[in-house]
Amino acid sequence: MNLLGQKIESLPTSPGVYLFKDRKGTILYIGKAGDIKHRVSSYFQRPVGKDLKTLAMLEKVTDIDTLVTDTEKEAFILENLLIKEHHPRYNIKLRDDKNYPCLRLSMEEDFPTLTVVRRIKKDESLYFGPFPSATSLRETLRLIRRLFPIRTCRNTKFSGRLRPCINYGMGRCAGPCCGKIDREHYREMVHQVKMFLEGKNKDLVEGLKKRMEEESEQLHFEKAARIRDQIDDIEHVIEKQKMVSSDFSDQDVIGSHRQDHRIAIYSLFIRGGKLLGGKGFTFPSKGLPDEEILSSFLHQYYREGKFIPEQILIPKAIPEHHLVEQWLTEWKGKRVRILVPGRGDKKHLLQMACENAKQFVLEKEELEKDEEMALKALREKLHLKKVPRRIEAFDISNLQGGNAVGSMVFFKNGKPDRKRYRHFKIKTIEGADDYGMMYEVLLRRYQKAIGMNDLPDLVLLDGGRGQLNVAQEVCNELKMKDIDLVSLAKERVVEGSRVSRLRKTEEKIFHPQIKDPILLGKHSPILHLLDRIRNEAHRFAITYHKKLRSRETIKSVLREIPGIGKMRQTALLKYFGSVEKIKEATKEELSKAPKMNRKSTQIVYQFFRKREE
Ligand code: SF4
Repeated sequence: MNLLGQKIESLPTSPGVYLFKDRKGTILYIGKAGDIKHRVSSYFQRPVGKDLKTLAMLEKVTDIDTLVTDTEKEAFILENLLIKEHHPRYNIKLRDDKNYPCLRLSMEEDFPTLTVVRRIKKDESLYFGPFPSATSLRETLRLIRRLFPIRTCRNTKFSGRLRPCINYGMGRCAGPCCGKIDREHYREMVHQVKMFLEGKNKDLVEGLKKRMEEESEQLHFEKAARIRDQIDDIEHVIEKQKMVSSDFSDQDVIGSHRQDHRIAIYSLFIRGGKLLGGKGFTFPSKGLPDEEILSSFLHQYYREGKFIPEQILIPKAIPEHHLVEQWLTEWKGKRVRILVPGRGDKKHLLQMACENAKQFVLEKEELEKDEEMALKALREKLHLKKVPRRIEAFDISNLQGGNAVGSMVFFKNGKPDRKRYRHFKIKTIEGADDYGMMYEVLLRRYQKAIGMNDLPDLVLLDGGRGQLNVAQEVCNELKMKDIDLVSLAKERVVEGSRVSRLRKTEEKIFHPQIKDPILLGKHSPILHLLDRIRNEAHRFAITYHKKLRSRETIKSVLREIPGIGKMRQTALLKYFGSVEKIKEATKEELSKAPKMNRKSTQIVYQFFRKREE
């Protein structure tokens, strides 16, 4: 028996976590089990039936570490902590760590507010969502504000006000900050918002109809007419919403589909029986069984403050079904059930989610094929040395030389990789010298990149021949020979006769070895790709430039406050985060900020009140 065999023989039979390691001690895979020895042995005893990826991993395993726990639940928690820390190659990773927007109704307050949040907290507030896109969220919010004048302001704006803000004037808020509505009537409206968000629109309409009749009986015709319009709007919404589930509960329906070496998971969000939308994800399947991938997905998807519905429908039973259910119930603070429907409506919904997963992965594959084709065409049309899978694009932004910044964006296989974007504050150039700034940015970027062996295939510059010459100079200086360089410039052209002159812009691509600019025609998909990358670099540079400028403006506003020195200005800014929040702060809040006393509190408070007047 070899060393590994001896190790497996001596493994504990208790619950815990096991770590497969290779020769160098790198962790390949982390798993959990109720009986460690039994689970690990099953990997090595029955190689038949295991797919190639699992076999390839097992080939590399030379050592196994274990961590024994008292219960399976502890093993479950520990496994996820360890995966999060070590990111083993053969465990699945949910790349989408984004939290989708939800609406929060702060029920714990006397006058609850409706705000957009991305994180669900364990508090008394009610959360609705997630909304699959920012557009659908904005639409709902706009509709609610039109139907129910609930406040949407933050507490800093709400407290200590002398007058209601513009929302009151526009009829979008009932003005609770200044006593324009009493608590009882306001809470009644909050209840209606809650019903609306829960999809209980029929009950809501019934209630409103009753109130409309009462108002007209009391001859309050104007009020009754307003309620009638409200009812019309809500009924219009009801018509548009499609019921997909008859039990009115909140459900996430998680379907999956395998396609070659990939697995797609698609989650449909059903709230109050109505389908809000869905989100898809793909992972390399890494030879893991569907059940394991689903279990990992559930844990990674719901762990970071996402909305947890009462029911989660999945296509296959997962090994630690009761543990995951227990864990989700604890997170939500309310019973959560994971169901594997065998028939009926729920099964039908699940089929729908699986079909969506299939479509999602097929569309993704198509898109990737198109992107690959576009990159190859880019190489051909622009006479590049390599297919430009890694593109870095640069732009400069400044206002007559002030707050000058450079930006670099990174595109891998035609898609932005935002983690690799970089900003550069110009350090050596004074005044509006675009070429000098570009030189500084490129030199700084590639001096570092050479050391790290992190060079792109193609460098794209926003500009014409001048910018391209600067890039060439940097490449020559740093002896970078294998990198392609191109620049993209929008230039004005005048067409037509003297009488009917037509001015328009044209995109020109400059290449170091080609004398005349390359013209691709405005409908060329290759030009669209370059344009998209260049625009992204431009957007990134401008955003940073504006940020620097606004920091300057903020500082100058605070500098205007008489008797408030630099230290206090910085402390205030750090404490409140923005001038807007300092402006809206009450005296009490101001006095709590570091370095503030009664006198300085009074000065700051009065300064902004006078400015407002
Ligand atoms: S009117 Fe008052 S409560 Fe309403 S949004 Fe404005 S500040 Fe907030």
